[in-house]
Parts: sequence; C-alpha cells; structure tokens
Amino acid sequence: MAKQQTFSDKVAKAQSSGLHKCPVCDTPVTHIRVISPTQQGASGGYRFQRRIQAVCKCNSAEVLGN
Ligand SMILES: [Zn+2]
Repeated sequence: MAKQQTFSDKVAKAQSSGLHKCPVCDTPVTHIRVISPTQQGASGGYRFQRRIQAVCKCNSAEVLGN
C-alpha cells in the first residue's frame, strides 16, 4: 500500500503552521496567487509571472479590486 498524502492534508498543515496576523489591521493574512503579465523589452511579447501576494484588510481592496 503506497503512502498517500491528500491535498487537503497539505492545505490543513500549511494553514495551521503559516497563519499569522497583520500587525497593522489585526486580521489574519491570507496568501493568494496572482498572475501578472510582464512585457519583454526587445521582443514585445508578454510573459506571465506568478507570485504569491499576501492579503489583509490593508490591501484587499487594492489587490482584489473591490
Ligand atoms: Zn493589514
């Protein structure tokens, strides 16, 4: 029998170990994946850059656009 770790196990572990509060607004900081296009200088093509953005009350309106 192969040892399995489900996706939900990993998420639960990450949430329990990685949760922290913003010192400014005192709300739990969540992390979302943002994909932003970046233009290449010479070729003029676009690349999509993925990054993890920390979101709390301070910047949620700005990041989520509402
Ligand atoms: Zn904050």
